[in-house]
Amino acid sequence: MSGYEQLSISELKEQLAQLEGVYEGYKSRNLKLDMSRGKPCPEQLDLSMGMLDLVSSKDTLKASDGMDCRNYGGVDGLPEMKVLFARLLEVDTGEIMIGGSSSLNLMHDMIARAMLLGVYGSEVPWGKLPVVKFLCPSPGYDRHFAICELFQIEMIVIDMQHDGPDMDTIERLVREDEAIKGIWCVPKYSNPDGITYSDEVVDRLAAMPTKAADFRIIWDDAYIVHHLTDQPDLLKNMLAACKKAGNPDRALMFASTSKITFSGSGIAAMAASAANLGFIRKQLSIQTIGPDKINQLRHIRFLPDLEHIQVHMAKQAALIRPKFDSVLSKLEAELGDKHLATWNKPNGGYFISLNTMDGCAKAVVSKAAEAGVTLTQAGATYPYGQDPRDRNIRIAPTYPTLPELESAIDVLCLCVQMVSISKLLSEKP
Ligand code: PMP
Repeated sequence: MSGYEQLSISELKEQLAQLEGVYEGYKSRNLKLDMSRGKPCPEQLDLSMGMLDLVSSKDTLKASDGMDCRNYGGVDGLPEMKVLFARLLEVDTGEIMIGGSSSLNLMHDMIARAMLLGVYGSEVPWGKLPVVKFLCPSPGYDRHFAICELFQIEMIVIDMQHDGPDMDTIERLVREDEAIKGIWCVPKYSNPDGITYSDEVVDRLAAMPTKAADFRIIWDDAYIVHHLTDQPDLLKNMLAACKKAGNPDRALMFASTSKITFSGSGIAAMAASAANLGFIRKQLSIQTIGPDKINQLRHIRFLPDLEHIQVHMAKQAALIRPKFDSVLSKLEAELGDKHLATWNKPNGGYFISLNTMDGCAKAVVSKAAEAGVTLTQAGATYPYGQDPRDRNIRIAPTYPTLPELESAIDVLCLCVQMVSISKLLSEKP
């Protein structure tokens, strides 16, 4: 079928009636499908069950430096865990700090401390300033935006382009406005667009002059090894780029094993200049005597090096790639030639980002919900939950089973068509 915009009013009405019939059929099936969050499916979690057997009561539970992991200490992690994350993030071991189970927790606390106490090099704590602003490449990760909202940091939407955020706008804004203290970045297989920042974007972020001397890039490398294909995207190292550009303290990098081993029971880490980490370590040692070292031991025994991580992630990819393929082929089959929506084809990460016609996303999500398909709330991928064009829908294919996913995408495609036709009809003279 050709694009709907070419159809007459009566043809559109006829098409709508036909789709409504199919939709009522789905409604009567009482579906209960949840695609709202990017969670690993049980089969992915099963891949890490062996990890639970690697620590036992027969063990000495000693780290490589002899530290007793059952006891207090090791505020910034086991030496061998630092080595692993240093390799993963391509930094020195002195530039790594291991945290608890959540990188979001590390980022939240980073911002909280910045507001209360400032960051390394701040003249005043950010919270003492009349206004603090953050740049938010969007669509982006809703929980980053929630942190800003919590601390009343004003968010500025920055458009995402095919190779990262709109750098011309960013460079102009940070040069002029001292209140802009940072930017959120998911630089690899971004949430939700699946975009990896180009080398040029990395270099420009690292080198751009900023009016705020204590400007920080929150480099959330959540999908660092989460490839879906044999040709992974390559991301230039931000810490190295910042050093080279003469801004060594600008980048704060984060990663975790949440979507490598167990979500919620993984290991999180932060990488930054030794000066940044020295400043943070002092504050952190007031907050905690140390993270869960037994979990670190379990992880390092299960995934001792990058090669093991690679093999493990290939197994993850084998489980979820068919789900991504299924979503993409259904979108193509149902919407491909209708000019109603566009979507990305990610090489990794956890999401497919669907853009409907302007003004349709909210209606599509609520129509899908009526038929028992829960999607991420429309608008959630934008600061303050407000998508200025009301068009972005985040699809999280990993958790449902393949048959569930197929039904959910059928419903989604149906809803996109119905809402689009209604909109076209409302606009016809
Ligand atoms: N950052 C991004 C971009 C994410 O998508 C997620 C998980 N949805 C997180 C961070 C959360 O990571 P963690 O489990 O380490 O807190």
